[in-house]
Amino acid sequence: MPKFRVFATCDIGESINLLRNRGYEVEVYPRPEAPPKSLIVEKVKSGLDGLITTLRDPIDAEIFEAGKGTLKVVAQIAVGFDNINRADANRYKIPFTHTADVLTEATAEFAFFMLGVLARKMWTAEHLTRENKWGYWHPYLPFLGDEVTGKTIGIIGTGRIGLAMIKKCAGFDMNILCYDPAYQNHEYVKAIQAVKDLRAEKGISREKTWIKYVSLDQALSHADFVSVHVPLLREGESDTPTYHLFNESTLRKMKPTAYLVNTSRGPVVEEAALAKALRENWIAGAALDVYEKEPLPADSPLRDPAIEDRCRLMPHFASAALITRLSTDPNLGMAGRCAQGLIDVLEGNYGGDVTKMPYVVNKEAFG
Ligand code: NAD
Repeated sequence: MPKFRVFATCDIGESINLLRNRGYEVEVYPRPEAPPKSLIVEKVKSGLDGLITTLRDPIDAEIFEAGKGTLKVVAQIAVGFDNINRADANRYKIPFTHTADVLTEATAEFAFFMLGVLARKMWTAEHLTRENKWGYWHPYLPFLGDEVTGKTIGIIGTGRIGLAMIKKCAGFDMNILCYDPAYQNHEYVKAIQAVKDLRAEKGISREKTWIKYVSLDQALSHADFVSVHVPLLREGESDTPTYHLFNESTLRKMKPTAYLVNTSRGPVVEEAALAKALRENWIAGAALDVYEKEPLPADSPLRDPAIEDRCRLMPHFASAALITRLSTDPNLGMAGRCAQGLIDVLEGNYGGDVTKMPYVVNKEAFG
């Protein structure tokens, strides 16, 4: 008899063998795209102990009902868990885990690189070179980009990834406007200011730069760059929901020279409004890693060739670094952390106390 039966909706690499070596029977959905929900329901109904999921799998009451009496844990390989209905998980008293922290730096650096590629027009410049349209060196032709160093950035959401992004922006001598209605880390901001002051004092930075918490309106209206690091929270899930936080009204508050970077979740930005903002030059550009519908539909207005020089589109790739995604070490990789979250619950680590398990999200259901 296997110790535990697990179904994984996607392959998480060597960490599957880590579970098998512990005597688990693990079935992995063999295709790269998401399995149909009906298949997940069918698998769960067959008496699974654990389910490994990712952000594309809708996990709600239908799944928990199918697993009534048998399903003990859902282990998600991602930090965001907007695909899991938390209220339903709590009602069925099923703990679910996520893979926070191990992807924080990878995601923040990717957001920063996207910002650089966008502002310095690297994609357009490489196309010019590859298509053999690079005819001369000229002071301003065929186009110029915007320097990032010394500019002002608005960080929307100062949780794990927002703070890591702040650290990277501080290295580029950027002034930093922070906005977060629910969590403000003033100690961190004070420490970043101290580093900034030291850099200015020692002549490492040319000018004194600053960091402070402000309102959303202030962040949007003063920033040269706006980078979004919030979870997707819909109406009813939070006092300050993030669904369509960027819409016609908020986009219009940004400077016409400003750039928007979104590595959080697609529905945080209303794409029709953003496409309009880019077409009508309300803002200078946008770089997106995530979309309202993924993969990005062929007829998305974001694909409009008229805005392609100022709209960078990445395939939900911000955490896609080798060690970040696949290391079996729970302190390094999402896969390792996902497997460990599953093991903690199934094997009753921490004395079986779910509230003490570090990767469990919905601890409130077990207090
Ligand atoms: P986190 O929970 O540590 O931080 C999120 C922060 O957003 C919190 O401090 C919260 O208070 C704040 N927030 C909530 N509502 C807000 C609002 N209305 N306005 C401003 N701030 C608000 O999460 P994290 O680990 O930093 O991750 C953030 C999100 O990034 C994840 O939920 C996930 O959706 C996304 N993400 C995407 C990728 C990718 O591959 N593109 C990778 C990792 C994470």
